[in-house]
Amino acid sequence: MKKRVVILGSTGSIGCSALDVAGKNGDRLEVIGLSAHSNIDLLMEQIARFNPRHVALTDKNAHSQFYKINKSSAELLDFEDGITYLASMAEADIVLNAIVGAAGLKASLETLKAGKRLALANKESMVIGGHLINALKKESGGELIPVDSEHSAIWQALISGKKSEIRKLILTGSGGPFRTLPKEKFASITKDQAMSHPTWKMGPKITVDSATMMNKGLEIIEASLLFEIAPDKIEVVIHPQSIIHSMVEFIDSSIIAQMSYPDMRLPIAYALFYPDRVFTENGHLSPNDLGNLSFEPPDFAKFPLLKAAYKVANYGGTLAAVFNAANEAAVAAFLKEIIIFNQIPDIVINTVEKHTNKVNPSYEDIVDADQWGRQFAEKLVGQK
Ligand code: NDP
Ligand code: MG
Repeated sequence: MKKRVVILGSTGSIGCSALDVAGKNGDRLEVIGLSAHSNIDLLMEQIARFNPRHVALTDKNAHSQFYKINKSSAELLDFEDGITYLASMAEADIVLNAIVGAAGLKASLETLKAGKRLALANKESMVIGGHLINALKKESGGELIPVDSEHSAIWQALISGKKSEIRKLILTGSGGPFRTLPKEKFASITKDQAMSHPTWKMGPKITVDSATMMNKGLEIIEASLLFEIAPDKIEVVIHPQSIIHSMVEFIDSSIIAQMSYPDMRLPIAYALFYPDRVFTENGHLSPNDLGNLSFEPPDFAKFPLLKAAYKVANYGGTLAAVFNAANEAAVAAFLKEIIIFNQIPDIVINTVEKHTNKVNPSYEDIVDADQWGRQFAEKLVGQK
């Protein structure tokens, strides 16, 4: 029996890699739904190749334009609830959430509410709504398998021991393009420099997040919620080669690591086919070819968002939604070249400091906090 899969955010970097995995495993997977925000041309190519039954578009103009030109057999879902329909459609076994940003939360919740497998790339939904996601997962019997490479590595390593035997989770990060750049030079970092990641090719938002190390910060919060583990048991280690994707240290001092060349198709396939592994021809890694693997502690002074993330992880509540929303607003302004690189952490930290935290928030509280954080940060962007 083929597994029926929905890919949300199919036109993005993860979405395209997921379709590549689906294309290579057509005997085991059927793509039945796709969503995009605005990239109609690519969506049409994907429809022609994968023949999904339903598609959703979340940008209003793109939706009405596609409505006029769609001649395919894929049904365009309503603008308002297309994502909810796709995330909960009865025929689907797995929903891969590769939407970028807080916009992905609803889909994560709907997928789990429907009792399905959620293959989660959209880390922001775990960061801002992790406690709701965990509660739904328990209630509905839905399943969550992480796609984020570090969390996939930890998931795989955890199979070696019991939760009570964990000493710490060790999240690796490449350190991004500015690992060795002196802090004094950060003010002159250009958009192009921030967009050239040394080891991974990804969408624009996560690429900037990797340059500020906000991405690792989000991943600390993601790991803490996903594995239900205290933030002080999560350590970040800089590993510029991106071969070890993360590790778990157990109480007997054994460290279990997962290694591969950096290629998101591996954790995507793992999440789609778990508990099976699928055969892949490429990417065979021979330790003899690797040369030296190196490790160093992160520089918290150079990357203040990393330190801020530990605080946010400890406080929890609506603070995480504000932290994430302020970052989304600041990164968008940086990508439009309205603010400089150094202003991203300033804006995020200033916004977080002004927020009155609400613990154990409802979905509505999270949406409100997200809006508040976005607006506050946008005001700061306007003052720059
Ligand atoms: P991209 O920017 O490449 O793609 C984002 C996707 O989301 C696109 O399909 C885009 O549509 C769609 N989208 C944009 N805005 C909205 C919205 N408001 N509502 C619904 N859909 C929207 O991002 P990535 O693929 O790089 O990342 C996706 C997620 O995966 C992020 O959460 C990221 O942190 C996470 N991730 C990514 C990794 C990577 O290697 N890229 C690694 C680990 C995690 P369109 O293009 O049509 O506008
Ligand atoms: Mg990651």
